[in-house]
Amino acid sequence: MEGKTQLNVYETVKKQFNKAADIIHLDPEIRKILAMTMNEIVFNFPVKMDNGKIEMFTGYRVQHNNVLGPFKGGLRFHPGVDINEVRALATWMTWKSAIVNIPFGGAKGGIQFDPANYSKSEIERITRRFTFALGTNIGPEYDIPAPDVNTNSQIMAWMLDTYASTMPAHERQACTHVVTGKPVEAGGSIGRDKATGQGVVFTILQWAEEANFDMKKATYMVQGFGNVGSWASRLLKPYGATLIAVEDKTGAIISEHGIDPDALTEHVQNTGGVKGFADSEEVDHDTMLAIDVDIFIPAALENQITAKTAPTLNVKLIAEGANGPTDTDGDRILQERGIDLLPDILCNAGGVIVSYFEWLQNKRSEFWDLAEVDGKLHKKIIQGYELVREAVREFHADWRTAAYIVALRRLETVYKDRGIFP
Ligand code: NAD
Repeated sequence: MEGKTQLNVYETVKKQFNKAADIIHLDPEIRKILAMTMNEIVFNFPVKMDNGKIEMFTGYRVQHNNVLGPFKGGLRFHPGVDINEVRALATWMTWKSAIVNIPFGGAKGGIQFDPANYSKSEIERITRRFTFALGTNIGPEYDIPAPDVNTNSQIMAWMLDTYASTMPAHERQACTHVVTGKPVEAGGSIGRDKATGQGVVFTILQWAEEANFDMKKATYMVQGFGNVGSWASRLLKPYGATLIAVEDKTGAIISEHGIDPDALTEHVQNTGGVKGFADSEEVDHDTMLAIDVDIFIPAALENQITAKTAPTLNVKLIAEGANGPTDTDGDRILQERGIDLLPDILCNAGGVIVSYFEWLQNKRSEFWDLAEVDGKLHKKIIQGYELVREAVREFHADWRTAAYIVALRRLETVYKDRGIFP
């Protein structure tokens, strides 16, 4: 896998934004606002390690925009986290919520470290100390974190507990919705765990229907077999599509006969990665990317589809489970080569949609069942899909630019309605 730091992803966001803003002649005053993040907070904080020594960590929270509702976005634990990555991820969150029409803004956070090198109790203390440092920069009606790379429902439960413990006594019970993606027992929503993968699958199925493409004959490969990649694969299984190759941080595997996503999920849970999976062959990164399959689901990190790799892909469709897997050169080459693309800000919006459902359930003290969550998720993400498809037709735009157009028009309208204070 390419090192994601090779290219500053925030530059990619700016190029994507400018392209769409030019096409729709976005109001120049509103363009100034949306081109910048609202708040950027960097924390350096100490944590006591298991050996009694102190280690310093750097964490970030960037809040891009909240004109549509509270800031919303995940928290990432990764050595590659830096201010530009968090700015990019926060900005994409604003567009994403606007496309699928949920009342949230965009934010993102991260701590620059590799959790694989730390014990569970150290990770708990890092999480709690960062949450304490965030203080009231997050809040159930202000800024609501969720899981992202290397964070999960356990991390969210620790964040909730820390946040609640630092609130005045009479507010502690009323802040469950300060984070989403919690364990179900701790106020999480049924279906949030699989939601991003489910949204990826719903958009792929919609594409297949409109392209007259038979999913039973489909072959596909996945990069990243964590939350998003493994759920997307498992949820595609009932439709008959065959998983041919998978890459994660431990390596890449391929099997012409097909890889069972459920068995691979179990293998990854037991061993920590896809490497060594039975009845598969190990291949290198370049070989995997060049294999001939119908669909590629990038579900790991940024900058994977670039000037170097886009010409080597042999696929019909790219469904972006990851945020920012394609840079602007990659986009151009995919368009020249006639490869379809479901852009991240639409394709992986299932996560934030069900986070919104979780937030609503917490506020109303309700518990929805899976059928209700999935049904509402399907409706929301397909409404977003249809708006983007209409913008593709209206502006003769590529799908990513069309997705931006949908988001920017909605944000422009709200700013025009509200005006700028004072
Ligand atoms: P995760 O931590 O559960 O999984 C990440 C996967 O990427 C792992 O399989 C890991 O091995 C793999 N990976 C890491 N480094 C790699 C490398 N160098 N080469 C190949 N694979 C590598 O994270 P996730 O939550 O599944 O997130 C994956 C992507 O999806 C990210 O871009 C994230 O921002 C995006 N996303 C996640 C959600 C969500 O709800 N979790 C929502 C929207 C978008």
